[in-house]
Amino acid sequence: METKQYSLKLLKKQEADTVKKQCKMCGKVTIFTDTTIRRHNANGKNIYQFAIYKCPKNHSWNKKLDSYKSFTNHVDPATLVPSEFQAIEEGEKISLSVADHQSYEINIAGADGNFRLDRTLADYIEGWSRTEIAQRIKCGSILLNNCLTKPSQKLAVHDKISITIKK
Ligand SMILES: [Zn+2]
Repeated sequence: METKQYSLKLLKKQEADTVKKQCKMCGKVTIFTDTTIRRHNANGKNIYQFAIYKCPKNHSWNKKLDSYKSFTNHVDPATLVPSEFQAIEEGEKISLSVADHQSYEINIAGADGNFRLDRTLADYIEGWSRTEIAQRIKCGSILLNNCLTKPSQKLAVHDKISITIKK
């Protein structure tokens, strides 16, 4: 049985960031709010990360955050993957498919704030409600550090969540 491993960094929700600047569409200075949506654009060998901001009239402005070099052509990207752990990005949802894997592991790479097990899983797993997750925790198909736990259990760094999907 293959286990797919993920890593997840839990960060405190931050106050929406705002920037006062000229909106070309509105034709005046207005307040842009960070939607917290991030986009990656590749341009040649560089990958740029943008934060998407919106003005009150919903016009977008992409704030450039970072750029980093992408893989060079003669290096096989597979050899550069640091580990078998796949990072779950903020705002992303993973889908646990019974066909590919029967067991999953989510490793908590950071926990800045109070994060309940059931709520966190509902936030990051596609199509699983909190009620459904609570039932899976109670029946032991979701374990924390290989032990039975409760849905309201708080997560800490280095915790390991194991999920077994029964067909
Ligand atoms: Zn505008």
